[in-house]
Amino acid sequence: MTDRDLPAGGPVVGVLALQGGVIEHERVLDELGVAHRKVRLPEHLEGLSALILPGGESTTMSKLMRFNGLLELLSDALRAGLPAFGTCAGMILLASTVLDTRDDAVQLGALDATVRRNAFGRQVDSFETDLAFAGIDGPVPATFIRAPWVESVGDGVEVLATVPEGPAVGAIVAVRDGAVMAASFHPEVDGDVRVHRLFLRECAGLDVD
Ligand code: GLN
Repeated sequence: MTDRDLPAGGPVVGVLALQGGVIEHERVLDELGVAHRKVRLPEHLEGLSALILPGGESTTMSKLMRFNGLLELLSDALRAGLPAFGTCAGMILLASTVLDTRDDAVQLGALDATVRRNAFGRQVDSFETDLAFAGIDGPVPATFIRAPWVESVGDGVEVLATVPEGPAVGAIVAVRDGAVMAASFHPEVDGDVRVHRLFLRECAGLDVD
């Protein structure tokens, strides 16, 4: 479904589509019955109810955001309260401070948190686990792929999930800062729409079943 398929005026959720796992988020939005639009250029931001920033490579997305003239407009929109959900590289882009990234990488600064890129190290590069997730009943399956973690959060940022076991036990992997939510993992690849639904309902205020 795209916003072209729906009557004008209904909510449309943008998916930042410069690089990375765009289609997986679009499928979740389809399953939830939410209209969506790929965001590549400044004009694609117009009238959005929320924006999803997918996983991929945050440094590449940084370059493309600058190149496509999105950086300032997107920062402004987030500052003005556009609800946003970032997964993995999307979390990195949203954060106010990022450790272990490139000097020329950009931060949108919409999430008051320090995020460490590729934090889990080589041994546990990619892994799956079940998480307890605030606001969701029952375990949430979580796939981590060269994932960041949240090293510290500012006042007013809620920790939604931490790693339950293993070498990284206790690492913060999902947070909420007002209308902004971010996850280190990829809820869009596990066939479980509950994390997206939580974001759309609680952060974006959309009426989603
Ligand atoms: N390691 C990637 C980065 O730094 C993030 C990985 C992902 O999004 N799966 O951007």
